[in-house]
Parts: sequence; C-alpha cells; structure tokens
Amino acid sequence: MRAGVPFFIFFLTPPHFLISYLHQEQLSLIQAPIKRGERRRVTATESRLETMAERVRGLGYRMTPQRLAVLRVLANSREHPSVEEIYDEVKADFPMTSLATIYKTVTLLKEIGEVMELHVGGGRNRYDGRRPEPHPHLICLHCGEILDPDIATVDSLPDELVRETGYQIVGQRLDFFGVCPACQTAQAEADAAEEASA
Ligand SMILES: [Zn+2]
Ligand SMILES: [Zn+2]
Repeated sequence: MRAGVPFFIFFLTPPHFLISYLHQEQLSLIQAPIKRGERRRVTATESRLETMAERVRGLGYRMTPQRLAVLRVLANSREHPSVEEIYDEVKADFPMTSLATIYKTVTLLKEIGEVMELHVGGGRNRYDGRRPEPHPHLICLHCGEILDPDIATVDSLPDELVRETGYQIVGQRLDFFGVCPACQTAQAEADAAEEASA
C-alpha cells in the first residue's frame, strides 16, 4: 500500500527531532540554545519568552537586545513589575537604556496582547507578562504585592459564568484586596512592641 509509506517515514522520525526542528528559529533567540531532545526541559519562563519574542518578530518589529531584555524580565517575573521596576532590571545589563525605551516596548506588548496591564492605584500600572490573558489578582494594600491565585475555582469562573448566563465574555475585572501574610506578621509584631513599651 503506497499511501502507507509517508506515514511510515513520519513514525520513524523521532518526535523530539521534529519539535526541536520546528522551534529552532524561536530557540535561537535565547542565549543558551537548547539541544535537540531537551525540549521537555524548557521551563515555562523560556517558552513564555519564546512566544513573546516570536510574536513581536512575526509582526515585523526588530528584536533589539534591549527589547529582548524587557521581554526576559516580563517572562521571568511573578511580581507584576511596573515599568520603572523593569527599567531597573534592564539597566543592570544595558546601562544606556532609557525609561522611554522600556515604556515603548511594554506598550507594544500590551497592544499585541502579550502583557496584561493592571491598574492598581498608586500611580504606577503593573504588568503581567507570564499570563497575558485577563485573570484575577490578590493585591496587598500595605506593600503592593500582587499575586496570581493558583486556585482552580478562580480559573474556572469565566467558563461557569458563560454556562450560567450565555454571555459572550470579552473582558473581565476581578481583584481581591487585602493584607498579605508578611504584612500581617509585621503589623502584629509592631502592635506587640507598642503594647510592651506602653
Ligand atoms: Zn503586604
Ligand atoms: Zn497576574
């Protein structure tokens, strides 16, 4: 059966080879290229960086080292950094970088849907490059920490809403404000110290 031959060849080709061939282009963006067969060990950060870089280049934007550094900070950070915080990190490697460059790159990523912008008050927007799709956050009113709650109920909420209401959801805004455990401890210690000195 002649039609079986191409399938036979396909099955002979180790899948990891195909994957590493397909991703060669993207992986070349990362300084330490991943050897074939090591694909499974690519971290979430690296694959997020690849996705963002590929998107930016695919839309015809130039990938400068500074731009890549901004992408790397966003792919790395779970802290939801502000533009100023990204600037501080990038400046360590690229002292000539300007705040305007960082701002432009972040704006571009926001426009193409590769970062989520959070308006949390206090004058500085914060950015999530790890999870660019809208998602709820836990926000500490004392120290400004922003956390992605890793709770399945929270993640399944939009689907449940669609099922319940028939809405076609195009956006969401759901954040929880409070005091983080570290700030609670600090406050309790401060209260105890005040009581002891009274
Ligand atoms: Zn806090
Ligand atoms: Zn987030």
